Amino acid sequence: MILGIESTAHTFGIGLADKGKILANVKDSYTTEKGGIIPLEATKHHLQIKEKIYQEALEKANVKEKEITGIAFSQGPGLSPCLLIGLRFAKELAEKLKIPVIPVNHCIAHLEIGRLTGCKNPVLLYASGANTQIISYSSGKYRIFGETLDIRLGNLLDTFARYAGLGFPGGPRIAKLAEKARKEKAEYVELPYSVKGMDVAFSGLLTNLKQKLESGKYKLEDLSYSLQETSFAMLIETSERALAHLNKSELLLGGGVACNSRLQEMCKIMCQEREAKLFVPEPGFLVDNGAMIAFLGEIMFTKGIKISIKEADIKPRQRTDDVDVSWK
Ligand code: AMP
Ligand code: MG
Repeated sequence: MILGIESTAHTFGIGLADKGKILANVKDSYTTEKGGIIPLEATKHHLQIKEKIYQEALEKANVKEKEITGIAFSQGPGLSPCLLIGLRFAKELAEKLKIPVIPVNHCIAHLEIGRLTGCKNPVLLYASGANTQIISYSSGKYRIFGETLDIRLGNLLDTFARYAGLGFPGGPRIAKLAEKARKEKAEYVELPYSVKGMDVAFSGLLTNLKQKLESGKYKLEDLSYSLQETSFAMLIETSERALAHLNKSELLLGGGVACNSRLQEMCKIMCQEREAKLFVPEPGFLVDNGAMIAFLGEIMFTKGIKISIKEADIKPRQRTDDVDVSWK
């Protein structure tokens, strides 16, 4: 029985995994009406909520503390103050229960939890507030085949939404406007499409959108629709190229933005056209969650990967390909 702790950014989550089954996935997120995430405020949220989330997870799984055999925690990448809350809680529990800890990479956990949908060797399109990457396993490591060169997709959506007065998180609000516009046969407004090899860039798109909104010549609905069509297409292009390059036939989605039904639809069309299969985890596993940390933690633990409490530390800038994938 492995307990997983997620605390890389706005979400504090705890999951319990046993023999590849998720027994609990409890979380709570720090949100703001105005402005972005303030790491120290998020930290306060995590500190305040951690014990409650822990108790809820035990209850949900109907598990006693002493049944837990290892504590997995998200060691990076993420915001240091937030990561530290997770680390300290992991150490506290490990000390109390006299069990080892398992350090888990957040991005790889997004990919591994995808296995519950049945995929075997996928290319992961991971689009969240703090990450936008295309990741896949190749020659002994999880490697990044494409990524954003500046801001992340979720960040683009949230920043534009805030700018337009839509509040936070902006992704779902933009999605609503875009859907409405699509039904009403919106005019596609041309926006900068920036793909550089396997990488994408979004900051020029954001500036252009702000200028167009300020000009007063465009409807917010049309801009929201065009924003989605353009930014999603950039990631479809690079994901497709990764599938072709790696000769793989499974595309897996991860990250909060992957909850977007239009993004899912565009992925599906691309996959159908190249006879690949699309795998979409349930929403609770798409967004940041403790279950995926427990799930990968259990795989690692089973292969003997565990460390002592003293050795456990955070890695805020850990890259996917820094991780030694000795569990495969
Ligand atoms: P995560 O960091 O993985 O928890 O995901 C959070 C991000 O996902 C935020 O930027 C949200 O705006 C975005 N998001 C959540 N739901 C949707 C949606 N339906 N469409 C687009 N973005 C979304
Ligand atoms: Mg994430």
